[in-house]
Amino acid sequence: MKPVKMDDCSRGRLTKETLLFLNITAAGLQYSTRILSRNNTNVSVRSKGGISLPNELWAMILNYVREGKKGTEDRFCFVKADPSVASPDRMLLRCTRHKFNHPADEFLASDLNDSQSVRDFEDYMACATPSEAENLGIKVPKLRRLSGPDNTFYVVLNTTQTDSCLYTFRDVPDFIAVVDYGCCWICDGNRFVCPGCTRKRLEGFGAFTDCSVELACPLCMGLDISAKHQDFLEECDNYEESKDEANGMQRFLEERLTELGYSAAMADMAYMIHGYR
Ligand SMILES: [Zn+2]
Ligand SMILES: [Zn+2]
Repeated sequence: MKPVKMDDCSRGRLTKETLLFLNITAAGLQYSTRILSRNNTNVSVRSKGGISLPNELWAMILNYVREGKKGTEDRFCFVKADPSVASPDRMLLRCTRHKFNHPADEFLASDLNDSQSVRDFEDYMACATPSEAENLGIKVPKLRRLSGPDNTFYVVLNTTQTDSCLYTFRDVPDFIAVVDYGCCWICDGNRFVCPGCTRKRLEGFGAFTDCSVELACPLCMGLDISAKHQDFLEECDNYEESKDEANGMQRFLEERLTELGYSAAMADMAYMIHGYR
């Protein structure tokens, strides 16, 4: 996932139809903190229920909430974002929650079953409209826009900020890393698969079918990464791979795992089974 920057919106890299991920655990806190820090001292902030408290008390409450949330699992939801106010150095995005009509994991299991479908879905994430869905070779479950104040979130972006609670997906692995706690129908969340034993599931992904190796899952880690790992494993069969090359491949896989929000320790699996560690 890539945090959304102001640049992405102003330069048109994101549109109102791009499917985004919002960290709702962080979004409310960030927004409230910003309102409070901008607020004129003569005007007190009111809660949704109309409770008015001095700003010092709101600041204390927000601190308590922030402390309480430390170490808890972040919750994410799908949103589409609409810039409602924009100035050269600040942008307010109105984010509306969206939901697939179908559980996302079932969709991943039944429809993203070859490399072309994965690419189609990546195109859809960039512009998630019904007409885009029509043009794809796969059947994407209907995406619903949820209404009401509980499903509307405001996110402030500025030119200097580094933290964000709004993210774009770059590809399907990005999506799988967050949806349904990262469940994947190919590797069951292990991120590596034995291509021989999962031959049926890997059909259409162009993976080889050797047993007793652990291949980077093409759906979780991405088609390019999986293909690169496969080349490496195939070369291992032909000649004794140097320790340097094996370590290099491990670092490469660890980086990708971390980047996608998976545990980097999983990269060990690829080597234990192949006898390099
Ligand atoms: Zn997987
Ligand atoms: Zn096997």
